[in-house]
Amino acid sequence: MMRGGSPRHHLRRMIATRWFSRERLPAVKKLLPVLLVLATAVAALWWRGRGPEGFVLISIDTLRADHLGAYGYPLDTSPFFDEFAERGTLFEKAFVQLPGTLPSHMSIFTGLYPMEHGVYPPDSVLSEEISTLPEMFQRAGYRTAAFSEGGYVAGRYGFSRGFDVYDDIGKSKPGGAAETVRRALEFVDSLKGDDRFFIFLHTYEVHDPYMAPEGYGSWPGPPPDIWQPSGANLTAASKGELSFDSEDLEYFVSLYDASLRFVDDQLRRFVEHLWDRGVSRDSWVVITSDHGEEFFEHGSLVHRQVYAETLHVPLLIRRLGQRRGTRVRSLVESVDIAPTLFELADLEDPAASFSGRSLVSALKNPAEVIRSQAYAENLTSPTRTLLESREDGLFQLLVTRFPDSERRELFDLSRDPAALRDLSGTRRALARDLEIKLEAYDWQARAEARREDLGEEQIERLRALGYLQ
Ligand SMILES: [Zn+2]
Repeated sequence: MMRGGSPRHHLRRMIATRWFSRERLPAVKKLLPVLLVLATAVAALWWRGRGPEGFVLISIDTLRADHLGAYGYPLDTSPFFDEFAERGTLFEKAFVQLPGTLPSHMSIFTGLYPMEHGVYPPDSVLSEEISTLPEMFQRAGYRTAAFSEGGYVAGRYGFSRGFDVYDDIGKSKPGGAAETVRRALEFVDSLKGDDRFFIFLHTYEVHDPYMAPEGYGSWPGPPPDIWQPSGANLTAASKGELSFDSEDLEYFVSLYDASLRFVDDQLRRFVEHLWDRGVSRDSWVVITSDHGEEFFEHGSLVHRQVYAETLHVPLLIRRLGQRRGTRVRSLVESVDIAPTLFELADLEDPAASFSGRSLVSALKNPAEVIRSQAYAENLTSPTRTLLESREDGLFQLLVTRFPDSERRELFDLSRDPAALRDLSGTRRALARDLEIKLEAYDWQARAEARREDLGEEQIERLRALGYLQ
């Protein structure tokens, strides 16, 4: 027995005389903010991961895979991507179908190869007979929104179809990705608890003319003479009209990397906001690119040829609540993205007809071989290429057909990743075999793409991106 009565009596006395006494009141007041913070934290924990559920498809235009830490780059260009990838599924060998913004994004949106959707720059528009992935999400009742930096990802080409909101922000350099992300986050904030969503996010931040945002990147001394903010020299140099030395090149690469470091911070900002807003843990984030970039590995700049530096892109697919990270070694292609999201969302749509293959089985079993071949073609030269993963290596055949001559190149990318030793003269049987397989990639257009007058405004926008002279 406690002094002064029963425990209950003692408690009553404590409450009456001590805790609510005038002397104690200031202490209780002091505790209130702490209690409030605790209550908010508990509520946030409960809310976190129970909100709207959906899909985010992010395209970082012009991002070559090998400049990311997760793909082996030695510099600190992508700390967030690398960390996020540790619990996601990273596709080590993802290749695009064409190193050009318009056809490549259209392949991502339709799951069709370029000659099937038929949309090539500067003025063709996707046929109404072909459905895009966003249209399928919209028909299934998803809230759909796109935040694009325009140019060849302008809505007019067919990209805006199926979106409730198509925010064509345009390219504003440098640091424009921050605004693009801000607008996307506004949309995220507008989502309600039981909404399902599909968001497409696109940025040109690492695209030429490489202008690193304030505070990113460092270069000792003034920029080399060749540098021009317009990027005009890049075009001239890539056509061999201007000489370029190794320091010039180093400078451009350092700007590219600095822009990537900035984009990585924006990715962090976007994904952390998804968490903070309580977006469902069963939502999916896909990060990829429409093509890479070349830095004179094969005598050119920007993205004009079809070697690995322009075709090999990052592909990361992660469920937000995923805990175990895996890496998939199988070859995969951009056309595989649409059927993958279609299957993950369990959509049913009579208009769905993809040439790509769903990667869902590889998300479950990383050893799964999705495909052993990957195809790509080019815009700036009559070159088509086939990659084949074989027991004895990863080979790439390039066939260029000029009106009066032909050129063949064959590389073993598993032993010669920089593609410097042409084996077409020594491995003739293999080259022939791959060429026969390449010829089999002879699809017909699914529907005729329309051609539409570009209009002055679009011409100006494409010029600003260096696409039109
Ligand atoms: Zn692009």
